[in-house]
Amino acid sequence: MRAGYYMGNLAYEVKDIPEPTPEGDQVKIRVAWCGLCGTDVHKFQGMNGASIVIPPIILGHECSGVVVEVGPDCEGFKPGDRVACDPSWSCGKCIWCQKGLPNFCIHRHGVAKGFSDFVCPPESNVYHVADSLDLEAAAFAEPLSCAIHGMDLLDMRSGSTVVLFGMGAMGSLMLQLVLATSPFEVIVVEKEESKRELALRLGATHAVDDDAIEGLCSSRNIDYVIECIGLGTTMEQAIHVAGKSSKVLLFGLGNPESRVSFNQFEAYAKELSIYTSYLNPRSTNRAIRLLESGRIDTRSLISAELTLEEMGVELATQKNARRGKVMVRLSGER
Ligand SMILES: [Zn+2]
Ligand SMILES: [Zn+2]
Repeated sequence: MRAGYYMGNLAYEVKDIPEPTPEGDQVKIRVAWCGLCGTDVHKFQGMNGASIVIPPIILGHECSGVVVEVGPDCEGFKPGDRVACDPSWSCGKCIWCQKGLPNFCIHRHGVAKGFSDFVCPPESNVYHVADSLDLEAAAFAEPLSCAIHGMDLLDMRSGSTVVLFGMGAMGSLMLQLVLATSPFEVIVVEKEESKRELALRLGATHAVDDDAIEGLCSSRNIDYVIECIGLGTTMEQAIHVAGKSSKVLLFGLGNPESRVSFNQFEAYAKELSIYTSYLNPRSTNRAIRLLESGRIDTRSLISAELTLEEMGVELATQKNARRGKVMVRLSGER
């Protein structure tokens, strides 16, 4: 089978490797679609994603597909089942798992490297999806589950005024979750005009460039700020525009080498709560239900559907990734 590897030093290669055989309770899945995540680009650029990166590694972790074979101990799946994966395996036994925080599991590792024709995760990481759900949309289960975890942390109240920075794929999913809470106003900050238009189409009240945001915020109290870009400048601006008693979620993944600075006195005087969000504990099931409900628009977020072989150029240039979500077509089944 084919697998797309990050080889280190800005090199990507599609290799031919043996197909996995499902053992124990593993589920062998023919991958239909896999999303390109910002963390894949981070890894390609030599930075760490959620875990430390030691190349060569197979990229991708946002995949859906069809079951082709199961291990002898698998109980819940059979060949032909349509599924999505939670790539993050946790042991269920370590101190963090016992505390109910599987995202910090000491033994946590990726079990669904979706830039490949087949993956073989354990049954605990595989989820059924309804026949009505397009498998390309089902591949959004992982990014959406990460956004849901961020929303869980904020515990957003209806009727709030919300500022959201960034309309990349994560920001666009987050916007739709925010809108589902019945906010009073949602102001999106985004420098690309086409993405501002998408924000308005999805239901944002305002969509502005970053020089306009401070003016807009001075006349209202911002209850929640969600930063989905990961740049120092926008994280600082997020903390600055937050209102009194505001909750700020720094969701965008920053450069591990860089720092963020803000005025502590200003944050103190506003009594800010600043959150970060790590992975997707206990949110995959809800993500899939929401995708099945049809209330999350994934179609408008997709900028390109590329083959495994085309991903080398895309990783180096990010030509399509800058405009939206890049989907890798493996079997391409719907
Ligand atoms: Zn991801
Ligand atoms: Zn554990």
